[in-house]
This record gives sequence, structure tokens and C-alpha cells, in this order.
Amino acid sequence: MPNSEEELRRIAGEIEACTRCPLSRTRTKPVPGEGPPKAEVMFIGEGPGRNEDIEGRPFVGRAGDLLNELLASIRLDRESVYVTNIVKCRPTTASQPVEQQPHEAKDRRPTSEEIDACSPYLEKQIDLIQPKVICTLGDTATRFILERYRLKAGNISKMHGRIYSAGNLKIVPMYHPAAALYTAQLKTTMQRDFKKLAGLLEQTTLG
Ligand code: URA
Repeated sequence: MPNSEEELRRIAGEIEACTRCPLSRTRTKPVPGEGPPKAEVMFIGEGPGRNEDIEGRPFVGRAGDLLNELLASIRLDRESVYVTNIVKCRPTTASQPVEQQPHEAKDRRPTSEEIDACSPYLEKQIDLIQPKVICTLGDTATRFILERYRLKAGNISKMHGRIYSAGNLKIVPMYHPAAALYTAQLKTTMQRDFKKLAGLLEQTTLG
């Protein structure tokens, strides 16, 4: 029986070779996710951006810097949490690989077809890791995860910072750090929501 570390590696290999949706034609590197196979906390974003596509790692651009800052503010070591996305390849407005893309090529939200094609990878990752807490970053991840656990998703402006339960699992929706890069008010809100996350971790998981 393969252990969860080997299984996660196998899934990363499948993602490397994946051609289930058109994002495989424009990606530089897929971004399976990273972190300990038995992480108690998982952070799930929407999809890789340009920097992540180039490096093959999640949250390494400016949004990643803010995520790291927020993690540090509650003394949560990034190496101790699992970080991944709903889709594993960069959704972009361009239709060619990154080295041929026009400068104005932008990141965009994944379509529902791309999410349907890719989400089995995330489902397997969650089932293997069995986190105690899932922190969703932004609207797309929040909607997907709450629906997976048969919870009703509303607008992120109403849901952020609240704690939802699905059996023993706790789900904490947050704004997406990319949104907070442009709105100082949202950064303050995220700082507050991370404090709530810290309180939850103290009570329920890491003791
Ligand atoms: N935004 C995301 O949703 N995920 C990343 O990995 C980077 C930016």
C-alpha cells in the first residue's frame, strides 16, 4: 500500500502529464502544490499566476509574499502547511505558451469546465492529506470547497473569517491575497481573519 507521500508524488506526476483541458497548452509548468503530506492546515487558492507558472510552485508572486506575511503574523510556518489551488495550470487570456505570449497577457479566473477537469486532483490531495482546517483564499476556492462539503456558499464579503464545520473539518474562507494587494482595507480585514484562524488552531488542532 503506497503511503500518502508517495501517492501525492504520483498525483503530481499525473498533473505534469495532464492534458485534460486547454490550460495544458499554455502552461509553462503545472503547479501541483506543496507542503507536508500530513499537514493539518491546507490553503487553497484559485489557480497559478504568471510567476507560479514559471516556477511551478504556488503563491510565489506578490500575492504569495502577502500570504507569507500573513502566515508569519500568526507564527504559522509556511513549511508546515499545504498550499495548493483549485486548478493546477495557469488560467491566462493568452492562447500561446508563456515565452510567446504578448506582454498584455493576463491571469483570469478558471472556467467551470477547467475546474471540472482539474478538481479531481485537488479532491485526491484533500483525501490523502486529511487536513483539520482548510483555509480557502478567494471566491472560487470558497465556493468549490463549501459545495464539496454540501455547505451553502454566499458572497465572500459575508463569509470571510467565519468558521464552518463539516464533520471534524473546519473551513475558514478568506479574501484572496491578490485582492488585498490593491485595497488596504482588505489587507486589514485579512490580518484580522488570520488572527481568528490562529485562535481556531490554538483551540482545535495543534494541541
Ligand atoms: N493566486 C492563486 O490563486 N494561486 C497562486 O498560486 C498564486 C496566485
